[in-house]
Amino acid sequence: MAESDRQKINRKDPGYRGVEERLRDYREVEKVLCENEVKEQAERCLSCGTPFCHGYACPLANVIPETNEMIREGRWKDALEMLLSTHPFPEFTARICPALCEASCVLGINDQPVTIRQVEKMIIEKGFAEGWVRPCPPLKRRGENVAVVGSGPAGLSAAYSLNRRGFNVTVYDRELNPGGLLLYGIPNFKLDKEIVSRRIKLMREEGIKFECGVNVGSDISFNYLKRRFSAVLLTGGTPQPRDLNIPGRELEGISYAMQFLRAQNKRLIGEPLADGEDFTAKDKKVVILGGGDTGSDCLGTALRQGAKQVCQLEILPRPSENRPEDNPWPLWPRIDRVSSSHLEGGTRRWSVTATGFEGDQQGRVKHLHCAEVEWVRQDGKFTPIQKEDSAFTVDADLVLLAMGFIGPGPDPLADALGLQRDGLGNIRINQEHMTGLPGIFSAGDMARGQSLVVKAMADGKAAAEHIAFYIESAQQGK
Ligand SMILES: Cc1cc2nc3c(=O)[nH]c(=O)nc-3n(C[C@H](O)[C@H](O)[C@H](O)COP(=O)(O)OP(=O)(O)OC[C@H]3O[C@@H](n4cnc5c(N)ncnc54)[C@H](O)[C@@H]3O)c2cc1C
Repeated sequence: MAESDRQKINRKDPGYRGVEERLRDYREVEKVLCENEVKEQAERCLSCGTPFCHGYACPLANVIPETNEMIREGRWKDALEMLLSTHPFPEFTARICPALCEASCVLGINDQPVTIRQVEKMIIEKGFAEGWVRPCPPLKRRGENVAVVGSGPAGLSAAYSLNRRGFNVTVYDRELNPGGLLLYGIPNFKLDKEIVSRRIKLMREEGIKFECGVNVGSDISFNYLKRRFSAVLLTGGTPQPRDLNIPGRELEGISYAMQFLRAQNKRLIGEPLADGEDFTAKDKKVVILGGGDTGSDCLGTALRQGAKQVCQLEILPRPSENRPEDNPWPLWPRIDRVSSSHLEGGTRRWSVTATGFEGDQQGRVKHLHCAEVEWVRQDGKFTPIQKEDSAFTVDADLVLLAMGFIGPGPDPLADALGLQRDGLGNIRINQEHMTGLPGIFSAGDMARGQSLVVKAMADGKAAAEHIAFYIESAQQGK
């Protein structure tokens, strides 16, 4: 296409289903572009000689310009093969990746970037619809067994790669179903749980074994694993949430965000709720502490459950609408992000700190005391300082703590093995993803800290390569 014609095509996003309609259900909110629209969007790709999307931004190194070229030529099956050559599960990132690739698209310098995530979605969903995505067991099975502990995106991606290389892979998870945060954390309105089970079914058909409801290190010991497996990969995530130790923290009605989100996902997949897990936001005044993605997922979930009002508070200042000067292209832009949930309701406030909870006679939270803060540089560090006379109170009969995760926390297997941790409490690994113990590897959030699905997948894939090399080298007596 001539450059002048290309310039006439604007970026087109699919948008969301109407607010009124989507608040009545938990189905995915994002609409899809039609095939012709996706083709047209692929036309916008500049086919850069130095594609930052592919070489700099995408942790999986997806070959984006070439894939766009194939879409332009209508070669959907070739595009699928190209995508799957670097990416094990595009159907997940096509729905929930923040699209690091788009942030570094060269068009983004003076125009809107290519809708790379939408192109990826059409390729993989067409692949499933046409029956091109089929179970692909290895041509030849090897004798060695590998255990993967944790079935989030890191564990699944490692299991997929190791199985393709012919290893016998068993994935353990303490939850009743595989998927990690894809299943129990991320809400259905962003990633439908059918999409997760569709992939797990394929993986089982490819020969991967899943043993769920098994807490490794407590239900089964390391000695058990050692007798059966040539290598063990730990991908247990970072389940330890950040707490808030302010007066009144012991009151009833204050929960971690993940307890709330996990319970809703369990309801949707039909899993029984544990004692104390069966609470909702219905008819409640909800306060969410934490202005990030987890907080926004709580907001969308609380609104669907019928909350009376929802307020999301963040201690950091509101980011600017456009990139700050010290944050130029192709870096990930530190800008104010508005999620689909933010468009559905609730209020947001920034530069606010919580100072104490207040309860009623029954010991249930009723109010949250807050104050505004100003961020000032002190001893070289940005520090929040409470503004004078800025105290205020919000009504709250459900408070959700969504202030991030501080690492894997106590882990029965890592602790039994005495695995070293880094300064943030994550499992310490070397460049080959191996812990201090030979044959014990770690990947994903558990080793890198709280991050993104695409990074967990890339880590799992890299760890699988090192595990294969470790086993093969051991066999050759190297
Ligand atoms: C609410 C929420 C929303 C998010 N939304 C997004 C998003 O939209 N986009 C995005 O890119 N990222 C998102 N993230 C981040 C993303 O989900 C994580 O970075 C990613 O899931 C990490 O993958 P993982 O495989 O390392 O760990 P996890 O997904 O946490 O999986 C770890 C698994 O290990 C299991 N496990 C732990 N210990 C044991 C044990 N001893 N024995 C057996 N099993 C064990 C756990 O049960 C769990 O299933 C979100 C995170 C949260 C919390």
